[in-house]
Amino acid sequence: MKIICVGWNYMSHAAEMDKALPEEPLIFLKPSTCIIGDGDEIRIPKGVTNVQHEVELALIFGRTGKDIPENEAMSYISGLAVFNDVTARDMQTSERAKGNPWDLCKGMDTFGPLSETVPADGIDIGDLDMELTVNGEIRQKVNTGKMIFHPAKVIAYVSRYMTIETGDILATGTPDGISEINPGDIVCASISKIGSVTNRVV
Ligand code: MG
Repeated sequence: MKIICVGWNYMSHAAEMDKALPEEPLIFLKPSTCIIGDGDEIRIPKGVTNVQHEVELALIFGRTGKDIPENEAMSYISGLAVFNDVTARDMQTSERAKGNPWDLCKGMDTFGPLSETVPADGIDIGDLDMELTVNGEIRQKVNTGKMIFHPAKVIAYVSRYMTIETGDILATGTPDGISEINPGDIVCASISKIGSVTNRVV
């Protein structure tokens, strides 16, 4: 199982990361071993600095596909969930500056809190209110209608190059408001009609 992630998919986050708007989605993968559930702890390894939250809408694939047409893409989605694409930002910044890949900063154990999955049927993914709080204070808030690339477009794009398998997850990107989280913080990511995932940082 793989977690397919979209880099800058909200204009506001692209702006805060000082990135030009992408012409095609920026794609990276996180390993399945980063996933934790509601109530589990986000564990920051020793020496890792400036760890940040990224609330994202996650789509779960119900069947396998390759070269999926955009107009059929959503029929491949069986479930929806809330995802937190936890990132070791200082490590990412230094690897990007060197032109290196940044798998480690995104792929650490516990850096992928995921809520319970709800059935995708009947939920309009283009109009959901997404929010992230740290210790009860709102840090990120957006409507999923503000995405740059609709998930159907992302699925068509990725599946041109990579087979998407049943159980794979597509994390559709985060809006602005990313901020540092530290040991003791309680991080809660939530999306209307889907649910939430809450985790303590240690
Ligand atoms: Mg992200």
